[in-house]
Amino acid sequence: MVKVSGYLVQSYMICRRQVWFYSREVIPYQGEDLLEIGRLIHKGSYKREKKEIEFECFKIDIIKNKGSNLVIAEVKKSSKAMKSARMQLLFYLYKLKQMGVSAKGELLVPKERKREKVELTEEAEEEIRNVIEDIKRIISMPAPPEFKKSRYCNKCAYKDFCFS
Ligand code: SF4
Repeated sequence: MVKVSGYLVQSYMICRRQVWFYSREVIPYQGEDLLEIGRLIHKGSYKREKKEIEFECFKIDIIKNKGSNLVIAEVKKSSKAMKSARMQLLFYLYKLKQMGVSAKGELLVPKERKREKVELTEEAEEEIRNVIEDIKRIISMPAPPEFKKSRYCNKCAYKDFCFS
């Protein structure tokens, strides 16, 4: 059984069908230019505070101390998909909490000079727990959820699997 990861949580917020494909290791081609933009943003921004750490099911872009708080931050290319990025960060905060680590989160969009605080409140924790359970349910399905066209489809790397 594939472990629920930050990437799966982010995909879940965009498309349930994408979650199923990813869980079956159907990895789409993302395009050299997109990968390069991502690499440059990560290298050029927040250099001083950047400390990337990687665990079994997640990779945190930045981890730092702010006063008495531990803050983890995710760096994004744009603020277009902030809802899914927020949920991914909540997933990391939840996993850290399970390890006994209390932290706060920040979403950073260097190109737009944006910074958004994310906290694991009781309500947010329940929300992320429900998301994790639903991802597990989708992963265990023998076939992907039914195709439903959305505004994400035309730019989705899996579109060849869904329509042509
Ligand atoms: S093409 Fe659309 S339905 Fe298919 S995986 Fe991508 S977002 Fe989901």
